[in-house]
Amino acid sequence: MLDETGQADLAEHDSTTGLGQGPAPGLFHDPATGHPRPPRREFKARGSFTERCPGCNLPVLNCLCPYQASTESEARVWLITHPLEHLKPTNTGRLIRDVLPDTEVFTWYRTAPDERLLALLEDPRFAPFVIFPDDQPDYAGRVVGMDAVGEVKASGRTPVFILLDGTWRQARRIFRKSPYLDRLPVLPLATSRLTRYQLRKPASQAHLCTAEVAAELLRQSGDTTAAQVLDDYFDAFNVSYAASRRYEKIEQPTPAMRRLLAYRDDDR
Ligand SMILES: [Zn+2]
Repeated sequence: MLDETGQADLAEHDSTTGLGQGPAPGLFHDPATGHPRPPRREFKARGSFTERCPGCNLPVLNCLCPYQASTESEARVWLITHPLEHLKPTNTGRLIRDVLPDTEVFTWYRTAPDERLLALLEDPRFAPFVIFPDDQPDYAGRVVGMDAVGEVKASGRTPVFILLDGTWRQARRIFRKSPYLDRLPVLPLATSRLTRYQLRKPASQAHLCTAEVAAELLRQSGDTTAAQVLDDYFDAFNVSYAASRRYEKIEQPTPAMRRLLAYRDDDR
């Protein structure tokens, strides 16, 4: 869930073709002769930035693949992702599935709910919670606290955090326009943590990105290892991507990267 200005993402201006940043290479003409001339140096810099790793979809300059660690958690995460969010390389929801392979990702279409999601909502093994702020009175009766997650675990069911993945405006629309969510308890995330996300400009530092929300929910509900691995993986993503935008190669792994490497080694 991101702020509405999250749409204005520099990375979405990336283009492997060079289009969108002025005339394409080859279309430059020498003003003196009128003959085509080779593209300017700038295009090479842009091109090397936008060359993406097929494994992690990050710029190859600082690829995330060496740090990809997977783990398990008692609670599950299901993402309901706005269709426009899937296309953004800065989306952090996908990081959750990298770390927790049991994560489900559904694409939200207002008039066509995902059949698999509807079936899973009826599955008695799972106890889903919609993660959403408790700032409107009309659903105050559905709001629960983190203790409800503990009660679900004690009863032998699997708690599920349903995250609405998009900008705040998109998340609010998903919440309001999805009748199958109307009967579920609403769990607001209570935290004083501030966002560390550098890739989009938040309206407020208190607006966490989707991976940060998931890490904090896992931490508060007792999945401390999963929370730490996800938090470190998000940190590695964030730092790597931001450095690539500055055309900087990260030479020394950060503390979060070192913890991920150690975790992967232990896992083998
Ligand atoms: Zn990679």
